[in-house]
Amino acid sequence: MDTKLDMWFTEQQTKDVRTSCRTKKILHQENTPFQSLAVIDTDQYGRVLVLDNIIQTTIMDEFVYHEMITHVALNTHAAPERVLVIGGGDGGAVREIVKHQSLEKVVHCEIDGAVVDASRKYLPEISCAMDHPKVEIVIDDGIKHVRENKGAYDVIIVDSTDPIGPAEGLFSASFYKDIFNSLKDDGIFVAQTESPFFNRDLIPRLYSDISGIFPLTRLFLAVVPTYPGGLWTFTMGSKKYDPCDTDIVRTPDLNTRYYSPEIHRTCFVLPPFVKELLGR
Ligand code: SAM
Repeated sequence: MDTKLDMWFTEQQTKDVRTSCRTKKILHQENTPFQSLAVIDTDQYGRVLVLDNIIQTTIMDEFVYHEMITHVALNTHAAPERVLVIGGGDGGAVREIVKHQSLEKVVHCEIDGAVVDASRKYLPEISCAMDHPKVEIVIDDGIKHVRENKGAYDVIIVDSTDPIGPAEGLFSASFYKDIFNSLKDDGIFVAQTESPFFNRDLIPRLYSDISGIFPLTRLFLAVVPTYPGGLWTFTMGSKKYDPCDTDIVRTPDLNTRYYSPEIHRTCFVLPPFVKELLGR
């Protein structure tokens, strides 16, 4: 008899909401010193990186998130040479950053080496730039790294897990202050800042913290179907350049599937319910 077992991955998105995806195979599972890590294979999403039972990235929609967390800031800066990524252990942000002609070096500071190793092995489409000559991978806490590297970077990208466990401190005012000090005089910082539907307390707090430190704060949106609610926010703090003023054809040919000059202009257009969250 041919028995077919039905296997589903379920993410508990809030106390009252769960989403599930039929799973073909569990490719990898381990407990690292920081979190539980799994890579699963699915028909709908392709391969999926899961940390502490929360989807981090999927082959289906990773391009949206990785293009938006990198190119909006990098194309706002006049000539980004030194870039820091905090988190982002899958390597997707780094893959996009190395496309920029002005880049001299990207430091990729990820706290959990096991995420880097699993992504190299199971997610080559995402991790493919980790061995690029301009990439330096540092396995360390991003909070410590920015404290120890003052005035070092043109752009800092915080590609973190949700604000729990080792990432909790990546959503604090004292960390944003250290980021400010780790940037050069015209530096830009961008972070993933969660869902405007499910994180209605967090987003106003982060926006207010960043506005209290950077002369210019901008929130922008993208659609990432596998994240809770689909609509996702990113918040940028900038010392000098305004992404809304910028002539964004600095690096015109980025070979992207979501980011484009039109998306750069329109991603800052916020629906009234998001403006309300920001007190505007
Ligand atoms: N795109 C994802 C999302 O929004 O769900 C995040 C992807 S990436 C895999 C997040 C990474 O941040 C994880 O690999 C985690 O280990 C790393 N991380 C968490 N806290 C960190 C810290 N304090 N310093 C450096 N990396 C950290």
